Amino acid sequence: MLSWFKRIIFTCNHCGATQKIPLRRIHFFEHFHELREGQPLLITCANCLQGLQIPSTYRTHTGHAVNVDPQMPPKNAVIHAHYC
Ligand SMILES: [Zn+2]
Repeated sequence: MLSWFKRIIFTCNHCGATQKIPLRRIHFFEHFHELREGQPLLITCANCLQGLQIPSTYRTHTGHAVNVDPQMPPKNAVIHAHYC
């Protein structure tokens, strides 16, 4: 499966810091925290500690497309603190 190796780019909406996270780790997180269908994963920015790192478009383990607007993160988003 090609998607297994895919990396998702998370970009901070405050300072612009980026990090790449393998999609399989996001899927693992979805399972572990029992995210609801289409619930996006955001990450507290470890660089500026003020912004949220917003993912580029990806598909959840259930195949639901997640596309987050950096200026208006959805209220149902799950925020992961200081991923690294
Ligand atoms: Zn930041």
